[in-house]
Amino acid sequence: MQNALICPLCLADNRCACAATTNRSSADKAADCWCMALEIPPTLLAQVPTAQRNRVCICATCIAAFWSNAGSEVGDA
Ligand SMILES: [Zn+2]
Ligand SMILES: [Zn+2]
Repeated sequence: MQNALICPLCLADNRCACAATTNRSSADKAADCWCMALEIPPTLLAQVPTAQRNRVCICATCIAAFWSNAGSEVGDA
């Protein structure tokens, strides 16, 4: 199973460098992934099944979709 490569929200390829580079040390893997440079919204993370949370990356598409939705909701901030 390569579930680490699948976005838990949309079930598409999450393009996670952490999961793709399995032959590196865990420290290097973490530093390499694009998702480490992005802020994952806690609200979005809460939608990930507990078993996969902090183990499987959410794809960039889902993160972008979350921010575009959030932007329309926090109009009075
Ligand atoms: Zn996704
Ligand atoms: Zn990642």
